[in-house]
Amino acid sequence: MELIFEKSKAGRSCNLLPPCDVEKAPLAAEIARQKAPRLPQMAEIDLTRHYSALERRSHGVNNGFYPLGSCTMKYNSKINEAMAALPNFTDIHPLQPENTVQGSLEVLYLAEKYLCEVTGMDEMSLQPAAGAHGELTGLLLIKAYHQANGQDNRRKMIIPDSAHGTNPASASMAGFSVVNIDSAADGRVDLDALRAVCDENLAGLMLTNPNTIGIFEKDIEQICQIVHQAGGLVYYDGANLNGIVGLSRPGDMGFDVIHLNLHKTFSTPHGGGGPGSGPVGCKKILAPFLPSPRVIKNGETFTFADAPQTIGRMKAFYGNFLVVVKALTYLLTIGGQGLTDAAEMAVLNTNYLMKKLDDIYDMAHHEISKHEFVISCERIKKEVGVTALDIAKALLDYGIHPPTIYFPLIVHEALMFEPTETESIETLDHCAAVMREIYELAYSNPEALHAAPQKACIGRPDEVEAARNPRLRYNFE
Ligand SMILES: *Cc1c(COP(=O)(O)O)cnc(C)c1O
Repeated sequence: MELIFEKSKAGRSCNLLPPCDVEKAPLAAEIARQKAPRLPQMAEIDLTRHYSALERRSHGVNNGFYPLGSCTMKYNSKINEAMAALPNFTDIHPLQPENTVQGSLEVLYLAEKYLCEVTGMDEMSLQPAAGAHGELTGLLLIKAYHQANGQDNRRKMIIPDSAHGTNPASASMAGFSVVNIDSAADGRVDLDALRAVCDENLAGLMLTNPNTIGIFEKDIEQICQIVHQAGGLVYYDGANLNGIVGLSRPGDMGFDVIHLNLHKTFSTPHGGGGPGSGPVGCKKILAPFLPSPRVIKNGETFTFADAPQTIGRMKAFYGNFLVVVKALTYLLTIGGQGLTDAAEMAVLNTNYLMKKLDDIYDMAHHEISKHEFVISCERIKKEVGVTALDIAKALLDYGIHPPTIYFPLIVHEALMFEPTETESIETLDHCAAVMREIYELAYSNPEALHAAPQKACIGRPDEVEAARNPRLRYNFE
């Protein structure tokens, strides 16, 4: 496909500006650019076609099934977008006086309240811009707490080997040293391994529940107790709340701090880099350290305030506000019972698809899953040389976005499916039929799978090269 700069023709434009009717005020020479910017010059029709063509080359949840595990690519209702596009939300300035933006402050206030209710936490900050940013924020709360208690020695953060890769990265960014513990044979936290690493230097534990292979930590209360007894705090990675939201609450399980991904569970679109939102909720003991500013209610008036021992600002202004508007719209339209129904349907869809495949594919475990399930293609690879990557690429030819592959690391040749609650039984049946067809192909014609995809506009890019040396600028020379 031709790039926009290659399509550019000198003199073409989309501007229909009226003639200038005020005196020109030229910029001072030292701040004016010397050469005109090299912007592409195109008529509006060609520009529209260019972007429409780009859109057709990508796959989003509006195009088809997108069971990308750990990402919760659910359908997001258009009403969320409509609310976030209201001029009273889009046309405000972050430095406007509080009394002129009472409605927007109420949005932040209500979103915090509802998300506290959903998670079983006491207080919340909507400032972090993404899940990993929420992790960093939550960990800084834990650090500030230990420091305030004169226990700065507590720098050890325990992270199970099934954790999302962002967990150890955030912990080390926050100044903790990461101690990994291996999972038990059933994929859950090994309590003895946990006890063995708890000591007076323990800062806390980071945990995902349901964990990354989609199963619920049944000993969760005991896990929290072990960490608390050693003086540590327990962090809940709540990015994947979709299988338990409205059914059980991390706060009730014993967790002290949590981050959520509004751009997963709470129905705001993601992919392509944002914008996201990773609110952090906590119990009362951590609330004094929450980022500034917070929104509080004084009688009938909403106003900004600082927590007494705040860790400071985590982001300019008040977080990604319009993402919060979308999430609040979702919460208000679906309601409490709706959240519970959504989680139950997400779990049902996951187990339905898993059951439709478990007679031929090897599952990472054989119990009820929550929001996602994991297939291991290790046996297929051994028998016929077809890998998880081959299967993922083949799915593209059937109009299905591949599941997450090679994650979690504890499952070899992993394919991780997360169907979400918004998919119909027909879509799940179609996916199961495609996966069965691919399985047969693996044994009858493995070459066809090595050569997949045949219909996608890009075959198999050199992923290492693409990640290490991305070419993001047009070379004009
Ligand atoms: C997606 C995810 C994250 C990171 O969220 P980002 O918004 O991409 O930073 C962290 N933990 C888990 C379990 C996730 O699934």
